[in-house]
Amino acid sequence: MKLEALPTPCAVVDRARLEKNCARMQAIAARHGVRLRPHLKTSKSIDVANLAMGAERCATVSTLEEAAYFAERGILDLTYAVGITEDKLERVLEIERASGARIGVLTDDAATARAIARSGDVRAKRAIGGRASPAREARIWIEIDSGQHRGGVGAESDALLEIARALEPIGVAGVLTHAGHSYAARGAGEIARIAEEERSAAVRAAERIRAAGIACPEVSVGSTPTALHAKSLEGVTELRPGVYVFGDLFQAAIGACANDDIAFSVVASVIGAREDCAWIDAGALALTQDRSMDGLGGAYGEVTALDRSSLRGAPRVDRLNQVHGRVVATSQERLELAVGTKVRVTPNHACLTAAMFDRYYVEEDGEIVAEWPRLRG
Ligand code: PLP
Repeated sequence: MKLEALPTPCAVVDRARLEKNCARMQAIAARHGVRLRPHLKTSKSIDVANLAMGAERCATVSTLEEAAYFAERGILDLTYAVGITEDKLERVLEIERASGARIGVLTDDAATARAIARSGDVRAKRAIGGRASPAREARIWIEIDSGQHRGGVGAESDALLEIARALEPIGVAGVLTHAGHSYAARGAGEIARIAEEERSAAVRAAERIRAAGIACPEVSVGSTPTALHAKSLEGVTELRPGVYVFGDLFQAAIGACANDDIAFSVVASVIGAREDCAWIDAGALALTQDRSMDGLGGAYGEVTALDRSSLRGAPRVDRLNQVHGRVVATSQERLELAVGTKVRVTPNHACLTAAMFDRYYVEEDGEIVAEWPRLRG
């Protein structure tokens, strides 16, 4: 099928670019001698996951629906990298029992750590048929705040050791941090500085736990910008980047990918042609209202021809209703967009935009060669 024949709006993935992005991150992990545990929240697709993972088939997820989806499809080593609450543990175990997967969970809360430890022995045994020694089954990670200030305890905090002590009877899997503040950085140098903050906070936290006599085998770090620009990952055991598989305008603007690395886009139809603008059938429900490009001179997406060639007026989407997107010129030239024309929109944020769709159309040299379903939970 040609791109022109796609039903719109729809999500399109460029296979060659995707494969290149995946190979690049695998090479980075190999160069640093660390495991790659890609975050699958961006694509929520087993087909993308299979390209992203290295020889070690392990991954990171952001919901338990993702955990179940990927476990059922044979990814048996997963980390659910969002703070756990005690009531979710039963569902974690259910997924483990049904699939044979092992799902690491994350906490930064001493009370939760104590509650998990109280029930941990029983749970570990039930999960694998009564044979496990709890320490060997350690799959509770401690979340470290390396500067994003969203989740995690400080590497120097008392809370770190309090949590580690609470988990000691069932074992600590490791420490995990995500330098989300790298998204505020601009350019390779600044990102590299944040990557070092991320690394040193996580390694320091692991060292303090070990110095207290508690095993802490793993040190997990990662965001796309820091994974790409880290100079050293000494002391780190794994990397968890996510959005790199697709890339987007935001990643390109901060220097975490090039424009022609972007593998994900939305195909839309022009549904209204006016004097000073055009309307497409991709509104907030297709492009999301992500405003990450606000400070970067952008709007909701860049509009090109399907073959990615520039259109007259260098158009962008500047306004969204639920299903309508307004396209305006950014140069002096007038738009030339007739109703029925199909266009490609490169979005600000691939993770959120992809979440609006239930499948990817896979593009190779302007042809659609496959349809990959994706999870929406
Ligand atoms: N790890 C955690 C805990 C995350 O929350 C995220 C993204 O939100 C990632 C890894 C991946 O980061 P990125 O999408 O920048 O690659």
